[in-house]
Amino acid sequence: MVAPMQRRADQGWVEVIAGPMFSGKSEELIRRVTRYHLARVPTQTFKPALDVRYAVSEVVSHSRHSTSATPVGSSEELLKSVDDRTVVIGVDEGQFFDDGLVEVAAILAGAGKNIIVAGLDLDYLGRPFEPIPSLMLRAEYVTKALAVCHRCGGPGLFTQRVVQSDELVVLGAAGAYEARCRRCFDPHEAEQQQLDVEVATPA
Ligand code: ADP
Ligand code: MG
Ligand code: ZN
Repeated sequence: MVAPMQRRADQGWVEVIAGPMFSGKSEELIRRVTRYHLARVPTQTFKPALDVRYAVSEVVSHSRHSTSATPVGSSEELLKSVDDRTVVIGVDEGQFFDDGLVEVAAILAGAGKNIIVAGLDLDYLGRPFEPIPSLMLRAEYVTKALAVCHRCGGPGLFTQRVVQSDELVVLGAAGAYEARCRRCFDPHEAEQQQLDVEVATPA
């Protein structure tokens, strides 16, 4: 006889909220963590130490919703900072973590925790932004968030950098980046504008 299937009470899982800037990833992360917190389920939220845009120890959305968060320098530090009693773990700006985040999420889910990671799935040139794509493949639940294209109002899939820089990471929100749809996204737009300025103002 086949034994009846039993769902383990301590079964954990991984959730990913991926999308471009301004797509409401932080807002959604804050919403998911806060509902557990209000129900007195122990939660902890983390963010990469390098993201100090609005606050050092908070996750803040562009619409100024916030929740307290612990800045950590690596996925290893994140793992060490999780309390035994914590059930729900929020992680914002997951793209700024090392690739070890994929394994850390698996370890935490294996330990019965619910880990929710928000992050950019594509960089400013439209390339996969690890570790988010790998994490999406190893997650039970994936939410792909879209913004509104700043140019035409269409589905904003990409993050367009509107200032010239070759750095992968240029922190900042309004002013440096826009959400763009597939038609309006042009990874070389800022370079082109820079050239236009140089041509217009010869030294
Ligand atoms: P993310 O974490 O994905 O960058 P946030 O959760 O911080 O996004 O912010 C989402 C909020 O940003 C929206 O609720 C809205 O108030 C604001 N916002 C600004 N520009 C846009 C846009 N182009 N499309 C959608 N929301 C926008
Ligand atoms: Mg955010
Ligand atoms: Zn557009």
